[in-house]
Amino acid sequence: MITDTDKGNIGVELKRIVGDEKVYENEPMRDHTTFKIGGEADFLVTPETIEQVTELLKFFKENETAFFFMGNGSNLLVSDDGFRGVAVKLLDDFAGVTFDGEDDKGMHFTAKAGTRMWRLGMFLLEHEATGFEFGTGIPGTVGGAVMMNAGAYGGEMKDVVESVLVADRDGNVKRLSNEEMDFSYRHSAVSDNGYIVLEAVLCLEKGDKQEIRAGIDALTEKRRTKQPLDMPSAGSTFKRPEGYYAAQLIDEAGFRGRTVGGAAVSEKHAGFVINKGGATAEDVVALTNEIKRVVMEQTGVELELEVRKIGF
Ligand SMILES: Cc1cc2nc3c(=O)[nH]c(=O)nc-3n(C[C@H](O)[C@H](O)[C@H](O)COP(=O)(O)OP(=O)(O)OC[C@H]3O[C@@H](n4cnc5c(N)ncnc54)[C@H](O)[C@@H]3O)c2cc1C
Repeated sequence: MITDTDKGNIGVELKRIVGDEKVYENEPMRDHTTFKIGGEADFLVTPETIEQVTELLKFFKENETAFFFMGNGSNLLVSDDGFRGVAVKLLDDFAGVTFDGEDDKGMHFTAKAGTRMWRLGMFLLEHEATGFEFGTGIPGTVGGAVMMNAGAYGGEMKDVVESVLVADRDGNVKRLSNEEMDFSYRHSAVSDNGYIVLEAVLCLEKGDKQEIRAGIDALTEKRRTKQPLDMPSAGSTFKRPEGYYAAQLIDEAGFRGRTVGGAAVSEKHAGFVINKGGATAEDVVALTNEIKRVVMEQTGVELELEVRKIGF
């Protein structure tokens, strides 16, 4: 429980660390998630440097302040009551990509955690680097994608990440190799250990610009025709259960188009829960719980949320 005095003190410290204009108090999280759902966070801060991030972590530890890190909020379901603590958002203020040279392993690039996947994809296209086409349409950041081992159309971050610079909860910075990242389906060592992704080094092959562009265009078109991109959502709601497709199980259980309050299973893609307007987090939870219950009853398959819940 944070008292008003605690809150005042936390605000002063946050402003000292990241600067007055980078601290937002009582910030509605619906403005920071692609689901357009979520109550207020006590604070939201947008640091610009690694030093600010490590100083924040040290402050959180010393003061036992609750916090979470986020990127573009494209895989988040934030509670209607919001979050009692500090949301640390690494997006455009913590972004940038550099080309670090080419050797016998391939072309090396460093991307800061807040870099949008689309922006990274366009940078790689300019440098004629191939292998990342799959990631270009994922509407998140490099940090969120590394943490989730995000993937699409046969590719995943595991295939392109050479190493990751992380901070631990004490604010110590270290570099993890691809192997140490322990990537598997929608999983990495980042979530297991509570690490913060600061930047990722990618290794890619030299390719042909026309072919790379054609690859990106084809996948963009696939997304546009298959996914409800015109409605707020957090992408695929559930992980793919081994041997099945979540969307197919949900469809076969009769949930396509089903609504609870403002939340609905998309008519276009049953794997997506969408916000039809005014959906609450409670609506989404009620709908997903019902889907899980019926799919389990009918098929014996346990669906697991891919979307990360915050503040519940
Ligand atoms: C329309 C749509 C399509 C999508 N398509 C795909 C797809 O094809 N494939 C796919 O894998 N996903 C997809 N997603 C889901 C989402 O885009 C990915 O999971 C993405 O990687 C999340 O990145 P983010 O920056 O938005 O992370 P957020 O949603 O902000 O955070 C997601 C998780 O990562 C953590 N996190 C974020 N940044 C950091 C950091 N720097 N360090 C440590 N932890 C961090 C958060 O705490 C949270 O647990 C889609 C989503 C939408 C809305």
